[in-house]
Amino acid sequence: MKIAILSRNKRLYSTNSLYEAATARGHEVRVIDYLRCHMEITSMRPSIYLGDEKLTGFDAVIPRIGASRTFFGCAVVRQFEMMDVFSLNESVAISRSRDKLRSLQLLARRGIGLPVTTFAHDPRATGQLIKQVGGAPVVIKLLEGTQGVGVVLAETAKAAESVIEAFRGLDANILAQEFIKEAGGADIRCFVVGGKVVAAIKRQGKEGEFRSNLHRGGSAEVVKITPEERSTATRAAKIMGLNVAGVDLLRSNHGPVVMEVNSSPGLEGIETATGKDVSGLIIQLIEKEVEKPRSNKTRTRGSKG
Ligand code: ADP
Repeated sequence: MKIAILSRNKRLYSTNSLYEAATARGHEVRVIDYLRCHMEITSMRPSIYLGDEKLTGFDAVIPRIGASRTFFGCAVVRQFEMMDVFSLNESVAISRSRDKLRSLQLLARRGIGLPVTTFAHDPRATGQLIKQVGGAPVVIKLLEGTQGVGVVLAETAKAAESVIEAFRGLDANILAQEFIKEAGGADIRCFVVGGKVVAAIKRQGKEGEFRSNLHRGGSAEVVKITPEERSTATRAAKIMGLNVAGVDLLRSNHGPVVMEVNSSPGLEGIETATGKDVSGLIIQLIEKEVEKPRSNKTRTRGSKG
């Protein structure tokens, strides 16, 4: 097969790991900087270019779109889809998962466990927002944040109001969320490939930190997940319409609650901690999907929305 990895940098661990895994399985692989692509949207002949080279003959693309480049990145993935190239995760599923609020709404409708979350436009609703998530301490999140930036734990209702006011002053969209104290600064990352959890790690924030992000100095270890956690993770990925997803769960007193479903989950933490060849499993999934007769391809269909 001829596979394109849509990534800005060949040297990133995840990009390199996927490249090596695909090459080892005998595929022709190219890493393409999607920001350098341009597309021609022409009736019956959609095409995509890298400089003056027309990109043709690809069987599959692996999108590794940076959060800040979602709009253009998804347009590139969509253009490949228009050219009947299989995308590991569909563009519509990627943009759906990048919107934290939309994701929570879709998951909630299908009965997935979530921290109680509130969202409003009107500043007069602030007191209500805090009360409805159970009062302080409360977590305030910037909708546009990633890697734990813009996630704040407010210890008192007064502090929560000040944080909300400050974010509002910057014209940012924010949500308030029940603080899952019993998670103890740890979360569980379930790596889903083709409807199965193929690896899971527990990430623990450093001392005194409630955020477990590895980018914030957290550490990772292998964890055995419960059947309920397994089914929550696979269902969440399916609802979002993602073939490959990193589903982040917190262990709450009322069972697993989903924090986030990531459409470009990093491979370094999970492969290093578990020793599993997750990249190899991803390439095997692509092989299976591309070989399927066209009418029969199971694109993981997300829920409406
Ligand atoms: P990001 O997408 O920026 O990583 P998250 O919403 O995943 O933001 O939050 C970052 C981390 O903060 C989570 O992995 C978790 O450890 C912690 N966290 C987030 N929300 C809560 C919450 N409601 N209760 C307890 N811990 C939380």
